[in-house]
Amino acid sequence: MSAARVEAFRLKRPDEIERMRAAGRILGACLAHLAASVRPGITTLDLDREAETFIRDHGCIPGFLGYQGFTNSLCVSINDQVVHGIPGPQVVNEGDLVSLDCGLVLEGWWADSGLSLSCGPAPPEVQRLIEVTREALERGIAAARPGNHIGDIGHAVQTFVESEGYSVVRQYVGHGIGRDMHEPPQVPNYGDRGEGNLLKPGYVLAIEPMVNAGGPEVYTLDDGWTVVTRDGRLSCYFEHTVAITEAGPEVLTLRPTPAAAGSR
Ligand code: MG
Ligand code: MG
Repeated sequence: MSAARVEAFRLKRPDEIERMRAAGRILGACLAHLAASVRPGITTLDLDREAETFIRDHGCIPGFLGYQGFTNSLCVSINDQVVHGIPGPQVVNEGDLVSLDCGLVLEGWWADSGLSLSCGPAPPEVQRLIEVTREALERGIAAARPGNHIGDIGHAVQTFVESEGYSVVRQYVGHGIGRDMHEPPQVPNYGDRGEGNLLKPGYVLAIEPMVNAGGPEVYTLDDGWTVVTRDGRLSCYFEHTVAITEAGPEVLTLRPTPAAAGSR
């Protein structure tokens, strides 16, 4: 499996990271707000409206709206939907595994983050998948420090996820982020230690494990966006925008109310 390869790009300066920190702070607050809004009977379009309103009220641009033709400000992916679910009339039911992915732009700088949560009390299989995916992100972030390589991140995520009996999606990966949502380098959720770029201060990465309860295979629905698991089993996702600093990884998209958001 070929994973991370070395890709050229420009490191962010501290003043640029400071601006991304400001964008990330707002996105963290937005996702905490959205997570607290998930309840039985709400539609995925209701959540999208909440996201757009929050983003604009905070002086930011909804990054996803119009991105490659995407029609909304939020991706909402439920149960066997992995990522890129399009908001619409779909009603969220108790026990659903709901994945929220959001991006915004503040003064030209991007933040990209997301989380999964159960609507109401979590069925055991939903709870365990959420816990493993959240831990996978934490392990990936912990590996994102100077002196490590991009491949160390994917290795940390993959080995943990597979040790728990789940699988990581291969077709979609994390990414560098800055003036654009998707910048080099790619950040796979699989791979080997020492592969790809050597990490140093000035990298800003969106780390986003997508974890399937069953096999890793996915496909895209006829709507051209919604990615679902091939076997119809659950999928879960967490994402943070992370700056690599001298002191180690700094999560730029921290959420202010961990209890409501289900994660930091
Ligand atoms: Mg995202
Ligand atoms: Mg992303």
